[in-house]
Amino acid sequence: MLDLVFPPSCVSCQRNGQAICDSCAQLVEPAELRQECLYCGREIPEVEVGLGSECPRCQAPLGLLRIASLHTGPMQSAIHALKYRGREELAPSLARYLRAVSAETPWPSLLKALDGIVPVPMHEEMLRERRYNQAGLLAACFAESAGRPFLEKAVLCLHATRSQVGLSRDERADNVRGKFRAVSELVEGKSLLLVDDVFTTGSTMRACAEAMRDAGADAIFGLALAGPSRGSNALLQ
Ligand SMILES: [Zn+2]
Ligand SMILES: [Zn+2]
Repeated sequence: MLDLVFPPSCVSCQRNGQAICDSCAQLVEPAELRQECLYCGREIPEVEVGLGSECPRCQAPLGLLRIASLHTGPMQSAIHALKYRGREELAPSLARYLRAVSAETPWPSLLKALDGIVPVPMHEEMLRERRYNQAGLLAACFAESAGRPFLEKAVLCLHATRSQVGLSRDERADNVRGKFRAVSELVEGKSLLLVDDVFTTGSTMRACAEAMRDAGADAIFGLALAGPSRGSNALLQ
C-alpha cells in the first residue's frame, strides 16, 4: 500500500520502482568462495568444515566464514542506505543475498544443525540514535527464511567505541577488545551462526566470536553480507 503512495527508489541509480532495481542487482559482485581461515589463510579440510571449531593454526574462533558479496557498487550503496539513511525496509532484499550463499555446500547441512542465529550487536547508545541494528535486521530476516531461532541478545555490546572507519588493523583490534560479552544461558553448548553486514578486517566479528567461545559456544560460523575482494590487503591479517 505504502509502495503505491511512495514508490521506493533504487538506492544506486535512484530510478523509481524497487529498492535495488533489476539492472543494479546485476552489478552486485559475488564474493569468492573460500574454504580457508579468513584470518591466517589456512586451508580448511573438508572433514573440518562442519565442525565450526577454532582454527588450529591461529585460534580464530570462527570455524567457517562466508562473505556473500563484494562491498562495491550497488551493494555498498544499499548497505550505506540501510546503515545511515534509515532505509530499514532494505533488509529483507539484502538478506536474500545471505540466503543465496547459504544454499551452497556445506551451508545447507550446517544450517540444519544450527541452534541459533546471532547478530553482531550494537551498543545501546548507538541503537537509540539509529533506532535499529542493521546486522540484527539482516540476521532476523535470514533466521526467518532459514527457519532457525533468532537469538538477538546472545551477544551484548558493552562499550560504545569510536567508529572503526579509518583505523588500522591493530587499532581496530584494540578498539573492540573487551567490547562484547555473550550470555552463557543462550550460547553454551550451542552451534551458532554470527551475522554481520560488513566484514572489513574481521576484528569485530572475531571479538564477538571470542566472547561466544568464552561463554561456552560449541561451534561458531560466520556470515557477512559484504566484504573486501580476495586480493585486498584488508583480509588475512
Ligand atoms: Zn538501480
Ligand atoms: Zn586461522
